Amino acid sequence: MKIDQHTDLYGVIGSPIVHSLSPAMHNAAFAAIGRNAVYLAFESKDIIGCVRSMKALGINGLSVTIPHKTPILPLLDEVDEMAQQIGAVNTIVNVDGRLSGYNTDAFGALKALEEKIVLPGKTCLLIGAGGAARAIGFALQAHGVHLFIVNRSKKKGLRLAHHLGAEFVPLPEIETVPTDLLIQTTPIGMVPGTDQSLVPPGALKAGMVVMDVIYNPIETRLLAEARARGCVTISGLTMFVHQGAAQFRLWTGNEAPLGVMTKAAEQALNPKW
Ligand code: NAP
Repeated sequence: MKIDQHTDLYGVIGSPIVHSLSPAMHNAAFAAIGRNAVYLAFESKDIIGCVRSMKALGINGLSVTIPHKTPILPLLDEVDEMAQQIGAVNTIVNVDGRLSGYNTDAFGALKALEEKIVLPGKTCLLIGAGGAARAIGFALQAHGVHLFIVNRSKKKGLRLAHHLGAEFVPLPEIETVPTDLLIQTTPIGMVPGTDQSLVPPGALKAGMVVMDVIYNPIETRLLAEARARGCVTISGLTMFVHQGAAQFRLWTGNEAPLGVMTKAAEQALNPKW
């Protein structure tokens, strides 16, 4: 790779950032289309400093992750409508010093789901009420999906259900909800807690579509149990690559090399593959 005075600079800001798959995925994508650009990981809790640096140094684009996705909104010059609705930005584009914020998590989830299910008119049990659940919930609502929200904290769950015109369901009752789609958005089941799942196997019915937003491991306990019961499963890695592909298009105007990005993300997760 050639780095010179013309190299464009992209990156991810957040804390912690050490396990991010984005540098491997985006650098592979830039190389695949022959773009003179590099993507770095910037570990920082200083959100104001990050925004100032982006302008001062002319950083072309940034991914935004925990804990900055919401606090960054008022620091940007403009925020697109979906990101405003969700209340979180995961992508910034810098055009001549003007910073625009987007949320590609919603788009990534939709693309991953649409590979396996026609959404309008379907019902979905959404587990969790944090940032990922909000992004997915607003995207599904906009596509005519009827939502049921399950969350540990009833207050947060009820608030999201209210915003989405959805119904709140207590966790012990999820087996009683007839649903086409189940989406798990909490960190339960992620490395190192891979033996955990919030969903009782009795809630997993053959033919249902089950997506877990967790991508480490690629197949969580929930997805393994869902597959064993005849459900159609979608890994969080598929959503992750699609949200990254949307970032790539916003930054470069080019179609994203999805296959290259998927392989790079898989290899970053499992270096022995
Ligand atoms: P968040 O805003 O902190 O929300 C976390 C959610 O998980 C809340 O609903 C929380 O419930 C629930 N939760 C946490 N610990 C729990 C436990 N022990 N038992 C039951 N519920 C629990 O986090 P987030 O930004 O939504 O991210 C959640 C996960 O999604 C992370 O693992 C993240 O890596 C992943 N993610 C993946 C993608 C992708 O592209 N695949 C994109 C975005 C995020 P309370 O309200 O009760 O606290």
